[in-house]
Amino acid sequence: MNGTVLRVLLKRLGSTGWQERRGDQHRVRERKRKLTAPIDNIVIAGAGQAGGRAAEALRARGFQGAITILGEESHPPYERPQLSKALLHSADAPVAYIKQARDWSDVLNVRLETGAEVTDCDAGRRTVSTADGRTFAFDRLLIATGTRPRRLAALENSGIEIQYLRNVEDALRFRQSVQRQSRIVIVGGGVIGLEAACAAAKNGCTVTVIESEARLLARAFPAIVSDIVAARHRSHGVTFVFGATVTGTAPNGVRLSNDLEIEADLVLVGIGVEPVPTVAERLGLPSMGGIAVDACGRTAAPEIFCAGDAALQWSRCHGRAIRVETWANAQNQSISVAANMIGEAREYNDPPWFWTDQYDLNIQVAGDMLDAEHVVRGDERSGKFSVVAMRGSEVVGALSVNAAKEMALLKRVIAANARPSRADLESPAYDLRTALK
Ligand SMILES: Cc1cc2nc3c(=O)[nH]c(=O)nc-3n(C[C@H](O)[C@H](O)[C@H](O)COP(=O)(O)OP(=O)(O)OC[C@H]3O[C@@H](n4cnc5c(N)ncnc54)[C@H](O)[C@@H]3O)c2cc1C
Repeated sequence: MNGTVLRVLLKRLGSTGWQERRGDQHRVRERKRKLTAPIDNIVIAGAGQAGGRAAEALRARGFQGAITILGEESHPPYERPQLSKALLHSADAPVAYIKQARDWSDVLNVRLETGAEVTDCDAGRRTVSTADGRTFAFDRLLIATGTRPRRLAALENSGIEIQYLRNVEDALRFRQSVQRQSRIVIVGGGVIGLEAACAAAKNGCTVTVIESEARLLARAFPAIVSDIVAARHRSHGVTFVFGATVTGTAPNGVRLSNDLEIEADLVLVGIGVEPVPTVAERLGLPSMGGIAVDACGRTAAPEIFCAGDAALQWSRCHGRAIRVETWANAQNQSISVAANMIGEAREYNDPPWFWTDQYDLNIQVAGDMLDAEHVVRGDERSGKFSVVAMRGSEVVGALSVNAAKEMALLKRVIAANARPSRADLESPAYDLRTALK
């Protein structure tokens, strides 16, 4: 999102912007003076992947001032994809820490405060406070507080065991349930729910997935791929109920909106995520389902930046601002934003990209697959093919099934806004590199 789009977006939402709202020209001038002052102190709220990678990038780019990371979890920053993959499949799988705890201080000279939930922020004074009453001053603040799972209200306090899958503790708990060969109801046929279903089915659990849409992964996948995924799960014994939601408990499990009762020892909820509001709210930053940033990661407050899942950023492929909830974005956008925090001008415009692993399927998605014409490359019956999404002559998305090399090229085609013709794309012999010349 460029600066103009950001301003228009904020105006449309009834905000006159953080600066104007304070209505104090003297303070605005003072803030501008401070922005050109040396940066001695950077605070990062959120010790997840984006926060960790941003801290590393600040040091890699030569920043020598103080860096403090405040994270509410008890762990140093780690990557989450393995929480629904390796960690569920094997007791030996290690947590993917970005760095061991002591290396943050010993190698990078970064102060990492774990168990430190940011509960208050004062943009005027440039301080953040933690739940235990400590206050930290900053010249620049990076909000990297990520997202949290959307809760399933219908089952809260219902007596049945409910689990979510967001952090290490969640994953270890679910792994124990899976090893007990439990009867598991999974609410939500998205990526997290299906990776969990895969681990549970492989361990001999009885697995039922409840999906409110008529097919799996409807938010991101074309129907032909949804069908392939469903078939693979069914072949491992997973049962699906489509077009229904969980409305409450039944004597031995849960009750659905279509009056079905499903036996269950526990329910794993995977119905998407929502931003963690605390920091943005305290700073008076408008939340529009995420914290609006421009392509440099700047929020409406010039000294405050936002990276990772929490950021609402412009996506050309989607034609709107979205939260990009992916490993690659947490990795690369945060590195780019870190550079901007110390005075570089580096735009981040990579198309969104993520992958999922289920049984022998590796599926990768770049850009936006919805509301577009689909061109299939290769034969879907071969188990190795890709689908390209086009709007007019524009390639806005791509999905690959067990075709990672092709996806690497398709990502470049999308990023370059290259325009191969539909006829070219339909031909399996067409070399995608031609479009990049
Ligand atoms: C189970 C799982 C599997 C995934 N698999 C894939 C995958 O296969 N491919 C893919 O591309 N992406 C995947 N993702 C998504 C990817 O992991 C996220 O996009 C990425 O973790 C986002 O990083 P982040 O740093 O923005 O947020 P997070 O990783 O959520 O980190 C934010 C941190 O901030 C902390 N925090 C929140 N509020 C506060 C506060 N007030 N004070 C202090 N700390 C706070 C949180 O506790 C958390 O530790 C997966 C995610 C999950 C949960």
